[in-house]
Amino acid sequence: MSQYPVVTLYAQKAEAVKRFHPWIFSGAIQRKENTVTENALVQVQDEKGQFLAVGYYSIGSIAVRIVSFKPIESIDQLWLDKIQSAYNLRKSIGLVDNKETNVYRLFNAEGDGVPGLIIDYYNGTCVLQAHSMFVHKNRFIITEALQKVLGSSLKAVYDKSEAVLERKEKSTVAAQYILGEKSTNEVMEHGNKFLVDWETGQKTGFFIDQRENRKLLAQYSKGRKVLNTFSYTGGFSVYAAQAGATLVHSVDSSVKAIELAVQNVQLNNIPEGIHEAAAEDVFDFMKRSPNNFYDVIVLDPPAFAKNQHSRHQAVQAYRRINKAAFDKVKPGGFVFTFSCSQAVGPELFDGAVAAAAIESGRNIRVIDHLNQPADHPQSIYHPEGLYLKGLVLSVE
Ligand code: SAH
Repeated sequence: MSQYPVVTLYAQKAEAVKRFHPWIFSGAIQRKENTVTENALVQVQDEKGQFLAVGYYSIGSIAVRIVSFKPIESIDQLWLDKIQSAYNLRKSIGLVDNKETNVYRLFNAEGDGVPGLIIDYYNGTCVLQAHSMFVHKNRFIITEALQKVLGSSLKAVYDKSEAVLERKEKSTVAAQYILGEKSTNEVMEHGNKFLVDWETGQKTGFFIDQRENRKLLAQYSKGRKVLNTFSYTGGFSVYAAQAGATLVHSVDSSVKAIELAVQNVQLNNIPEGIHEAAAEDVFDFMKRSPNNFYDVIVLDPPAFAKNQHSRHQAVQAYRRINKAAFDKVKPGGFVFTFSCSQAVGPELFDGAVAAAAIESGRNIRVIDHLNQPADHPQSIYHPEGLYLKGLVLSVE
């Protein structure tokens, strides 16, 4: 008797699971026991009845998301092992008890072995986003595991799943503290201070995935004029100003994000007059801004493609925004350009940027390729986990 209701795959579909791909599409399923229920664990077997994996079942094109490629002892132990090994990785890369940085991604979904679970650590508070009801139902066990693993460095857990669950599910889920209460929301990243509004801000409150790219921008900023488009709460802006930029412009359509960007610049004691912020559409701002004025332009738009179907439109949007930057930037200047759309892979993104470069008629060279940082690991068997891509371009 298996521990969980059984899902049996077609003969030729077991191979992907054996190669550790974490998703099973509904078309791969030959039969399932009638005790299989949505948002609960199932045992996945090949057509000969051999164990393949344990995962949770959903109705949809991805039917099973795998949480273990080995039989599991108990659900409590599974969560403890997953959280412990995610924490160990962050510790071994120097992000835990780090004097300069107390904000990092503690758990990165498939990259840490559980599709649908994101946990970001903000100086004592973990913000949890469950992208599936299975994970959400386990939030208290996950919190217990976090307490065991993080000990006294965990003060609170805020459940922000309501923002990301499917519409039919979110009505039963409220964003709230499930451990502790609101405490400090000031964090430090490479010695720079930021206020993070995880309760009402975007995603879990801060775009931690740009940490190393922001640090790289600092190297390009001294004595230069920097335009930070899609700035959100001023992540790149603070680094540029700290590094000695003569002028930094932050542009974002969110008034709240811009207000926080202004506060974040003040928090870092940047001299008056260096930073200016505009709550405006980036495309409009670019149209009215002068040519040959900025030495460095950062383009970090939201995910233009939310899924495979909107890929074409997304590519056009990337082309347009990059063309606008190439038209504006000073000769000898730099453009940091990013895409965080999972549906737009690196080749497609590079192609969109190349198309914009051709249109601009300028001599443009790639001088660096950027990605998400080490606390956003992706399973090598799940290339879809690589979502953040960036290029540093020199523009003549
Ligand atoms: N670079 C930021 C993260 C950017 S997230 C950081 O390091 O923190 C993308 C941002 O784009 C969001 O803040 C969103 O409000 C903003 N945005 C989306 N569409 C926009 C538009 N058309 N014009 C200006 N800002 C936009």
